[in-house]
Amino acid sequence: MFLRNYPLANLTSLGVGGPADFFIQPSTLAEVVQAQRFALDGGYPLTIIGYGTNLLIKDGGIRGVVMQIAAPFAKASVEGRILTATTGCLLSSLSKLAFHHGLSGLEFSVGIPGGLGGATFMNAGAYGGEIGPLVRSVQLVQNGVVKTWNRQELNFSYRSSRFQQEGAVPIVTQVELELAPMDPAAILQKMNDLQNQRRSKQPLEYPSAGSTFKRPPDHYVGPLIEKAGLKGFRIGGAEVSTKHAGFIVKTGDATARDFLDLIATIQTVIKEKFGVSLEPEIRILGED
Ligand SMILES: Cc1cc2nc3c(=O)[nH]c(=O)nc-3n(C[C@H](O)[C@H](O)[C@H](O)COP(=O)(O)OP(=O)(O)OC[C@H]3O[C@@H](n4cnc5c(N)ncnc54)[C@H](O)[C@@H]3O)c2cc1C
Repeated sequence: MFLRNYPLANLTSLGVGGPADFFIQPSTLAEVVQAQRFALDGGYPLTIIGYGTNLLIKDGGIRGVVMQIAAPFAKASVEGRILTATTGCLLSSLSKLAFHHGLSGLEFSVGIPGGLGGATFMNAGAYGGEIGPLVRSVQLVQNGVVKTWNRQELNFSYRSSRFQQEGAVPIVTQVELELAPMDPAAILQKMNDLQNQRRSKQPLEYPSAGSTFKRPPDHYVGPLIEKAGLKGFRIGGAEVSTKHAGFIVKTGDATARDFLDLIATIQTVIKEKFGVSLEPEIRILGED
């Protein structure tokens, strides 16, 4: 069932941005296929979102159809060392499921707030771990057809995957992850250590979309922004976090325009001062 002129801001961790012309949240593979065909047949652009934790949706919203793959599309099972999950599953739930089965590999993801679809699209990673190397195969829907791509076909690299390069929007619907047996106590210890590191370093008390920029070769983003004197710099309600300058946080009322202007300002200053180009890791969607 499509909803019209549907507000999207509350479906993102940043809480900014305008509405979708058409919005649907499928709960079965058949509904995903049907919704993609509706978009194709009607000539509407199609945008897929997950839990919106890596998104900046612009103030004018998103034209065409927005499909959210989230909680109603979440099922997971484990057989041997293979964890199979539909892409509405939260990473945090999957890392706990793996732990309960004595399977290692997903510990890095315990504090990443998004879902498996977004993580596969982004090749999410942290603390030396990444989703890509764990993926055995992916089920997706493209042009209304259900397909399977295996690991060799997915072109995973730092925060990048084949899904970002495809012209015809691929909808990631299910992922098979290959994990490694390990002592559950050791898995739990690692998960707790990484959670503690995250809590001590990241501004989790404010809304954000995670790291704003990808790490450029030979540099760390936070220290560069700090060295440029931009820690705490703000435009409207968007502020360079005073805890970790690699994050932009929302303080009070903010618009997507505030975030876009702050991102552009940081890029200009860092280029001028250090000759380094910063590329957003956050996905920017929609129109002004
Ligand atoms: C506090 C905080 C900490 C974070 N820490 C990390 C971190 O350590 N490492 C890291 O990598 N990320 C981190 N993130 C970013 C984010 O949580 C991850 O990228 C996450 O995997 C995104 O999942 P999502 O469901 O929220 O995707 P969304 O933000 O909704 O979407 C992200 C992208 O994936 C696409 N997409 C989503 N679902 C699908 C699907 N089913 N099929 C096709 N395309 C899809 C969207 O079109 C969009 O381009 C952090 C974010 C926050 C707020």
